[in-house]
Amino acid sequence: MCVKNMKIPHIIGSEYTVNTIHNQTVRYLNLDNAATTPSFRPIMDRLSEFMEIYGSVHRGSGQKSQMSTAIYEGAISVILGFLGVTQKEYALTPTHNTTSAINKIARMLNISADDTIFLSEFEHSANDLPWRKGAKIIRIPADESGQFCMNHFEEALKVKNRKGKKFVAVSGASNITGALTPVHEIAMLAHSYGANVLVDAAQLVAHREINLQGNRNRDDAIDFVCFSGHKMYAPFGGGVLVGKRELMEQLTPDDTGGGSVDFVMNDSYDLAKNFSKRTTAGTPSVMGIVSMALSCNILRKEIGFKYILAHEQEILDRAKRKISVLHGIKIYCDLDYNAKKKCAIITFNVEGVHPNLIAARLGHEFGIGVRQGAICQFSFVAKLLGLNAKAVQVARQEILAGHTDRSFGIVRASFGLGNIPEDVDRFADALIEIVKTPEKSKNYFFNTEGEFWPIGKPRLDVASFFNTQEGKK
Ligand code: PMP
Repeated sequence: MCVKNMKIPHIIGSEYTVNTIHNQTVRYLNLDNAATTPSFRPIMDRLSEFMEIYGSVHRGSGQKSQMSTAIYEGAISVILGFLGVTQKEYALTPTHNTTSAINKIARMLNISADDTIFLSEFEHSANDLPWRKGAKIIRIPADESGQFCMNHFEEALKVKNRKGKKFVAVSGASNITGALTPVHEIAMLAHSYGANVLVDAAQLVAHREINLQGNRNRDDAIDFVCFSGHKMYAPFGGGVLVGKRELMEQLTPDDTGGGSVDFVMNDSYDLAKNFSKRTTAGTPSVMGIVSMALSCNILRKEIGFKYILAHEQEILDRAKRKISVLHGIKIYCDLDYNAKKKCAIITFNVEGVHPNLIAARLGHEFGIGVRQGAICQFSFVAKLLGLNAKAVQVARQEILAGHTDRSFGIVRASFGLGNIPEDVDRFADALIEIVKTPEKSKNYFFNTEGEFWPIGKPRLDVASFFNTQEGKK
């Protein structure tokens, strides 16, 4: 039975239909929520209303500018409230997305060769590449079930004679397996060794409650967190970096420009004393931040994380019954299908079929959207697949030569609030069909864009989309 909660707002595009290569019209089944989520309808509606009064934020004396500034500043308070903190305790800097937030903090921390950065071995490239700045990087392994290994972490922290800063950057939920990371335990341990912690909450934010303060009696508050609007039903170009105010205020601003200064001379300038000004160079993504705040209220107050947990548990229970029993399917890191340990993500392969081809068949024959490949985690996916170093090198050469069809990967089905447990049945039926009909793989070719494409299907033509006169009399 589906958990009944009429509070889930309409999700735009949830009734959208697509044609399959068998000429059937089916409801598009979005199982790619871990990549991006569609928008809640009330956010779009409220943004359209906001458009009427939209004007430049900050420094404007026009009434629209003042109203827009008030709404933008109000959005910042709402987002902090969603994280369980106040503006006094934590500060927010707007970014474009999670990737830009992590790049920003990595720059603002002034990392040097003496410093040590602790990452898990299952970090998205967004929380890996920005840290490669010459500091020592220590990767904490995942255990057999894909979860962050606390023992290893403590051993790594204990090592003496580390000279510089110690900084821990971990994802709150894995984008590959959905595994939830014990972020407060990590913070408590890290603090006891003098390290600060950033949580990459890109995957976590729309799935489980984030309470930055943790337990106020323990030293387990999260120092910094970042996430993107497009993974929380608010895909309008926003992202945030939030951190403890006393730590944020010590960071060296990276971007400079209008708004970030109190005064400018030809040969010098004075950075703004106010932290938010200092770290918001140029015009922020107002729609992005306002839409994130609207989503924060919908997720926390209207729907509630209790409901979201129960909803995901229902989906995982169904997956346990319907997917885990299928022949020819290999599942990675199922974590007992327990929503307290993981988000509703099923990572798998169909034996003997290339992951990119599985995804293409799901898309073109069944109208099901998933994600495939290394999904921004080459090393961790190679580990899940049990590949040795030589096999990884061979795969790398194939990719560099443009042959992604000869590289390795997995398929990820990720569920969101637009899904119902019955979607698992449709997904399971599609997988059964794919396993039963390997000969249909011949209906696809590997095209110059590097994807499997049905033979004879025309490419998408989007030219008319950009003609806003089309259809007008
Ligand atoms: N971290 C994780 C765990 C992610 O899943 C993603 C997106 N797939 C990112 C970071 C990067 O997010 P964005 O593309 O919004 O910058």
